[in-house]
Parts: sequence; C-alpha cells; structure tokens
Amino acid sequence: MKVIVSMKARARVYHKRGCIYADRIQYGNRLEMRERDAEEAGYGRCRFCEGLWGSVRCMQRRPDPRGGSPWTEWQGWADQGVELTYDRWSDTLYARTSRGFWKIYYREGIGNLLYHANHCSLTDETEQLKRGAFHRQSDVKAEPSVSKLLLYIRRHDIAMEIVDTDYRQLPRSTRRQRKYYRNAERRVQRAQKRRVNDLFSMLDRGETCWMPIT
Ligand SMILES: [Zn+2]
Repeated sequence: MKVIVSMKARARVYHKRGCIYADRIQYGNRLEMRERDAEEAGYGRCRFCEGLWGSVRCMQRRPDPRGGSPWTEWQGWADQGVELTYDRWSDTLYARTSRGFWKIYYREGIGNLLYHANHCSLTDETEQLKRGAFHRQSDVKAEPSVSKLLLYIRRHDIAMEIVDTDYRQLPRSTRRQRKYYRNAERRVQRAQKRRVNDLFSMLDRGETCWMPIT
C-alpha cells in the first residue's frame, strides 16, 4: 500500500490517502512511498488514519478538496452495491451486498482480514447477520488496504453473477481460477440434476410442466 509523507515536516509520520493531514501537505513537499519503506525509513503511523478505524475515517471523508471530488469513497462503494457499516466498539467493518455478507477486522502486525458469512439471504436483517457464523476467506491474504478487500468483494459478486448466468465465461488462466471454474461447473451440474429430478417427480404426480429441459 502506498502512503504519503511530508518531506518538510519535523514529525516523521506517514498517512493513508484520504487522511485529513495528508491533504494539508503542500504538493511540493509530498512524497508517496510504500508503507514498508516508510516504516524502514523511520516514519511512524499517523494517529488519525492508522488501523481500521483510520481507514474508515479516510473513506468517509472527501478526498483532497483541491481534487474537486464531491464523493466520498464510502458513498462510492454504496453506489456499487456494497453497503458498509462500521462498529466502533468491536472495531469491525461490515459489508453487505445483494449476494453476501462480509466482515473485515484489523489485526496488529498482520493487516486487515476478510471473513465471509456462512449463510446470507436477502431477507436477513443486518444485525442478525453480524451475529452469525463466518469463515475466513482463505484465498485472500491479510491486506493493508481496506479498499482492495472491498474490491475483492465486488469481484466475488460479479463472479457469482457469471456462475448464475453462465459459468463457462469464467476466466481459467490461473490455478485458482481453474479450481473455481470446476467448482462452479459442479454446482451447475448438481442444480441441473436436481431440476431433472424435480421434473420427473412432477411428471409422476401428473403435473404439467412448461419448464424447458436444458
Ligand atoms: Zn494520517
């Protein structure tokens, strides 16, 4: 993750993009570097933007007013169907989409971890989902950037939509993608089998069926 430091300031702290203090640094004094490099160069974390709460605060405020953006990143995610809520007490960020429920929390020295709700249906209340069971999303590493995890959630949804329409469009270039493809294929085959069985039981019961057999 890229962070921002001031080359002039006496306080050696680094900031995330969107931090109120990063925006106060004049452009000429502004330097972007990798977080790891900033740490190695002896810069410490800014009290405003550190941790998950800090990321949330940065996402909730408008980026540098000089950039002229009327939107916050928080709203941007809502516009893309990722509804975010943050619980200050447990320091956990929840993300709800039309297809799933997720939580992110920050572990010191490791980064932000992504968890996926085991079950989620459209009618579930968000408060109820927060108390449900989660599993660690195993193909996602601990990540310093919350935005990257939210992007993953968005992509996960898009992939699920493709599975519903046609899994054969899924990419197959990496091993992980091929594994995902095979899982989708099996899921669709199971669903088809179920549909055929339903069809037979309907015919047994003497019901008429207009469902096309694919
Ligand atoms: Zn900061």
